[in-house]
Amino acid sequence: MTETNNKTAQYHIDLEDQHGAHNYHPLPVVLSEGKGCYVWDVTGKQYFDFLSAYSAVNQGHCHPRIVDTLVEQSRKLSLTSRAFHNDRLGEYERYLTKYFGFDKVLPMNTGAEGVETAIKLCRKWGYEKKGIPTDQARIIVCGQNFHGRTTTIISFSSDPDAKGSFGPYTPGFETVPYGDVEAMRTALANQPETIAGVLVEPIQGEAGVFVPGEDYIPQVAALCREHNVLFIADEIQTGIGRTGALLRICGDCSCQGHCEQQATYTRPDILILGKALSGGTYPVSAVLADDPIMEVIKPGQHGSTFGGNPVACAVAQEALEVIRDEKLTQNARQLGIVFRQRMQELVDQYPALLSLVRGKGLLNALVINDSPDSKTAWNFCLALAEHGLLAKPTHGNIIRFAPPLVISEQELHEACDIIAKVVRAMA
Ligand SMILES: *Cc1c(COP(=O)(O)O)cnc(C)c1O
Repeated sequence: MTETNNKTAQYHIDLEDQHGAHNYHPLPVVLSEGKGCYVWDVTGKQYFDFLSAYSAVNQGHCHPRIVDTLVEQSRKLSLTSRAFHNDRLGEYERYLTKYFGFDKVLPMNTGAEGVETAIKLCRKWGYEKKGIPTDQARIIVCGQNFHGRTTTIISFSSDPDAKGSFGPYTPGFETVPYGDVEAMRTALANQPETIAGVLVEPIQGEAGVFVPGEDYIPQVAALCREHNVLFIADEIQTGIGRTGALLRICGDCSCQGHCEQQATYTRPDILILGKALSGGTYPVSAVLADDPIMEVIKPGQHGSTFGGNPVACAVAQEALEVIRDEKLTQNARQLGIVFRQRMQELVDQYPALLSLVRGKGLLNALVINDSPDSKTAWNFCLALAEHGLLAKPTHGNIIRFAPPLVISEQELHEACDIIAKVVRAMA
């Protein structure tokens, strides 16, 4: 970076520092434009975006179809609240429920709101359908989870930063180790008559892209069925093509999440979507379930001023059409294989610096062979930025790589060349 450019970036960083709460620790890069898998900073420097706003930008930055839809709908009608009907909501609800194969959807805005909605829905079902005594409902969650930032959600976080000094905490949650079928079996066998649900991420993204065994999700779902407990899948980060299937709970079914039979599909009772549901242009989340569950929520019992607004509905429908039309799920699956092959070569060559690569589709992580307290991964990401690729460490020594799914094979190789260059320089 040149001196003047550096100043320009520093100007924006200083403004944030002086006037904004310090609840993030961003890389010192100030972005001002994006297109497809690229972003540009205020100095005009181009980068591959390998974070994709935590997988919200699966369809690529500023996708023309999604942006046009956003602008057009904003000009026509942006918000009515749910006190009145609007002419976008029903169309979107039909489209979304058909797309994912559920009877009903409850529209919200952010991911955390989606999770909150799922928790409320699950508890209410527990009392009114399963017959759990008042205020006794329990929900089983997994260690190292990430489901958002509300007071209730952080109540069952195991991250001291997310949780510390925010108590008193919401009761009614029990934690079992992630990926451990036996632990789940034991938890569900303990007074199952008061367990309303199990809430899991099919892959733990924030925790560092932890991929459980292939049979974990189907087995947890089967255990839930056995005990009349709702299986709730948080696919906010893993869903909508990211892992090479439309939903991660589709597993490795070769239908790419688009088959009718859904042979290996583990169907959750409640599905939570967010992030890429709008292609990163607008906060849109959704909770899907069938009638016997969704019908427990009646008028006045849950809602959101912005949930289901016309802009959100138009944008989300377009964003899902883009996923299908551009075959982004298939691209994620194929390029994920290429990416992990390229990274595995580096891991094999530089074991002193790199421990392993893991992931599914284009949700992958490279684990740095150093303690989580070390600065190695952070410095690695600074060097990547210097060479034109943006990624961020999670939990100290893990670097998540999740480019927009519109990336081409040639672009992916160029990005891998950048990573390889930095690895060679740091090894
Ligand atoms: C990002 C995320 C959330 C929270 O979504 P927000 O839109 O940030 O509230 C919840 N669950 C998972 C798995 C996520 O990745």
